[in-house]
Amino acid sequence: MQLKITELEEILSSKREKFRELFYRIYSIKTCIGEVVYPDRIEKQKIVRVTNKLTGESTLFNEVRANRPFNFKDEHFEEKEECIFCNPEELPKDTFGRVEGKYCFTASNAAKYDCKHALIVFKEHDPIVKRLEVLKDIFSVAKKWINLAGNGYPFFVWNCLWRAGASVFHGHAHVLVSEEMYSKPAQLLRVRKMYREEYKREYLEDVYAIHRELKLGFNLRGTKIFAYLTPVKEKEVIAISNDLVPLSSALYNILKTYYSIGVKSFNVAVYMPPLNEKDFYVMRVVDRGNVRVKTSDFGGMEVFAGTSVVSSDPFILAEELELVLESDPND
Ligand SMILES: [Zn+2]
Repeated sequence: MQLKITELEEILSSKREKFRELFYRIYSIKTCIGEVVYPDRIEKQKIVRVTNKLTGESTLFNEVRANRPFNFKDEHFEEKEECIFCNPEELPKDTFGRVEGKYCFTASNAAKYDCKHALIVFKEHDPIVKRLEVLKDIFSVAKKWINLAGNGYPFFVWNCLWRAGASVFHGHAHVLVSEEMYSKPAQLLRVRKMYREEYKREYLEDVYAIHRELKLGFNLRGTKIFAYLTPVKEKEVIAISNDLVPLSSALYNILKTYYSIGVKSFNVAVYMPPLNEKDFYVMRVVDRGNVRVKTSDFGGMEVFAGTSVVSSDPFILAEELELVLESDPND
């Protein structure tokens, strides 16, 4: 039987008391029925809101919206503009030079987000990366750049295509080291600290255990991967590892899943511990919608309510993900 996010309360009620206790320690669920009166009928829509009480992340799922087709049409497109990233010699460098990998290299960002900010420019023009070795190289180059950039809080972000915020088509990611930790990773760290004090447990382990029990989470050679219960937008997947480079296998499988259902524009971010500190690396990946559609996926609810309206069902996403993970050639 297909599990559905709109039936999360029913799914929970069939679980053991101990599990429900853990679930409701972190999450709350509100289910309601919205009614639409048409001239000839009344339509009922079941809406489920999942909230992480500790982080404040909150998502609304409407079964009517969720019933909309899952797949985009897989269209091929190519940009043949004059590409600045295809001419690497002209790109600026950092004071310590460039980090050069097999499939990518760093360039100093000409209009920086923050004081320590480099671009990781892929050697291929096409941003749709399909090979594991390329992803591995991107993370290795990021790691080397972070070591050179020195003290502070490292952060990795990749905006793929314009819907995700990229201004250049050519494949590229960003790596930063900030003086103060950025707000969302800092918030996660605060929640983990509070949780450890209160429950003597690691918050991330418990969040993963919940997703695993609900068949939303998988273990890939020590990396935990899960279709997130409170996605910031469509099809968010989280992966947790002890280092940056091993996350490339998780990303490879997540992107393979995305490509298989027609997703081309996405954001990837990695929350990282400071240099020389051992802690979890948390990767977040989210679909940013159909590249052919002009409507923004972020409306007022996302911008100001902090409660995202999401169409895709994490249970369906988890099934797609599981299929891809099962055929992982690197196993
Ligand atoms: Zn190019």
